[in-house]
Amino acid sequence: MLENIVEEPVGIELWKSVFNVSSEAFSKIWEHVNMYWKPSNLVELDFKVLHNCIFTNVKLQKIGLVDDNICKVCCSEKEDILHIFMNCDKLEDFHNYLSSLLVRIFENCDSDTISLVRSEELLILGLRWHMKGVNDTFLNFFMSVARYCIFRRRNLLNSGYSNVNLIKLLQYTLKHYVTYMYVYLCRCHNMSHIFQKKFVIDNPLLEETDNVLVFKL
Ligand SMILES: [Zn+2]
Repeated sequence: MLENIVEEPVGIELWKSVFNVSSEAFSKIWEHVNMYWKPSNLVELDFKVLHNCIFTNVKLQKIGLVDDNICKVCCSEKEDILHIFMNCDKLEDFHNYLSSLLVRIFENCDSDTISLVRSEELLILGLRWHMKGVNDTFLNFFMSVARYCIFRRRNLLNSGYSNVNLIKLLQYTLKHYVTYMYVYLCRCHNMSHIFQKKFVIDNPLLEETDNVLVFKL
């Protein structure tokens, strides 16, 4: 009966072909999207990205809501979802910065599957398997914040802002959300062990010293 009323989502076909990922892999990816401690705006954007239902300028032009389909960040190429998150020239410094942080996140990795890790795929789909020496929960939270900041900068520039520093936006937003979870779990609910496990252990970017979070971004 379920087969008659449930349809496979079509939006994920884009990512399956871009990254050569199977349908089965997406069950793990959806788990990361719906992690219960993620802020709702991150969950909403991740859901839209994976379903390929972001209203890019290419889509908005097709339905007649904008005059041109050009990216307002680089002002040179058409803006589809791959362009927004991966291919825009104005993302080059940001991608380099992310790569330098990813090198540190994986520096103590003790797993043969390290050879399967690709930074572009991590940015869109996250890490789908556990790796010894790597805090995959933090990593997936971090990638979700990175997606959110890329899209937030894009929306700010579309609204007339100029000079949004994407790296600083990422650093600020990550600190803000992780600190929120720290206060929520450790100070309000006495669940320091959960915070340690999900955010601190095997994470070279974050330390907790004398009840103070130290970010190494
Ligand atoms: Zn662009």
